[in-house]
Amino acid sequence: MRRREQLAAGLAATRARIAAACTAAGRAPAEVALVAVTKTWPASDCALLRDLGVVDLGENRDQEASVKAAAVPGVRWHFIGRLQSNKARSVAGYADVVHSVDREALLGPLADGVQRAGRQVTCLVQVDLEEGAEGRGGAPAAAVPRLAERIATTDGLLLGGLMAVAPLGEDPAAAFARLAEVAAALRADHPGATAVSAGMSGDLEQAVAAGATHLRVGSAILGLRSAPTG
Ligand SMILES: *Cc1c(COP(=O)(O)O)cnc(C)c1O
Repeated sequence: MRRREQLAAGLAATRARIAAACTAAGRAPAEVALVAVTKTWPASDCALLRDLGVVDLGENRDQEASVKAAAVPGVRWHFIGRLQSNKARSVAGYADVVHSVDREALLGPLADGVQRAGRQVTCLVQVDLEEGAEGRGGAPAAAVPRLAERIATTDGLLLGGLMAVAPLGEDPAAAFARLAEVAAALRADHPGATAVSAGMSGDLEQAVAAGATHLRVGSAILGLRSAPTG
């Protein structure tokens, strides 16, 4: 099969899963944005997905993302990976949404980057749903209010909401229920911060049931990556 047909089939199957999950949850599919995670795949795949109607693409490494963002205009870029402080300025130059803001030390370089580029970036606070474990990044839930407030009051940064990755080995429904509580508390302080980025290829149904507004889906659309990354 040609790559375009492969991607079209993966996309159609994923959209069908999302539609079924929305029906089961009594939600409108328009409430749920699909971010196609293109990490490790070539820029030509990003362009094919764009031409198939995908408007949101996700990447997790600055070096790879910056090259693809320059090569493939006409989409929104979502930075979803662990963010090093020394990469934050670069990411702020092309990302429309940074899902992985988990500490105040990132805000200075992000603000610097958007100011230089004359743009704005939406920031999601990444929540650590398995506190204490050597996990995949994220701020403890107790640190979310202060970090959110700092984002909301930093020029050039917009507070969009929250992001999380379900811990390995836990029922994702339980993890996403905890995230939904943190999200409700955040909205009480910041009514505009409505984004909840949760759910990947393996657990998007549970994420939709728990109120996710953004799904980050890679392998279900593009196929299995040869090596696991971040
Ligand atoms: C790779 C990645 C995804 C997509 O994972 P799949 O299982 O391929 O859908 C989602 N979120 C983050 C943070 C990732 O790094």
